[in-house]
Amino acid sequence: MTVAEWNAKHPVGTWVDFRDASNRFSARTESEAWELGDGTPVVLIAGKSGCVGLSFLTVSPTCAQCKAPIHRGTEIVSGTCHSCERDNREERYGE
Ligand SMILES: [Zn+2]
Repeated sequence: MTVAEWNAKHPVGTWVDFRDASNRFSARTESEAWELGDGTPVVLIAGKSGCVGLSFLTVSPTCAQCKAPIHRGTEIVSGTCHSCERDNREERYGE
């Protein structure tokens, strides 16, 4: 993916999964992506000093309602996270 494509699709604040040999965590991006001198596309993310290559990132699916990241491995029902899902159910059936 080019820097221009990334920036068009993933604005600053997008939730991503960072993964390298020793770490894995979810974080928000803190900058637009840019290219290093050698052409490597990189971006700043929260919790990590210095820029990280886009190749280490996967964009997290986010809840259609509250925009929180839905972690991989979580079953996604109707595009919302479990907490919104529960609220919606209670609204529908609760008294
Ligand atoms: Zn939600």
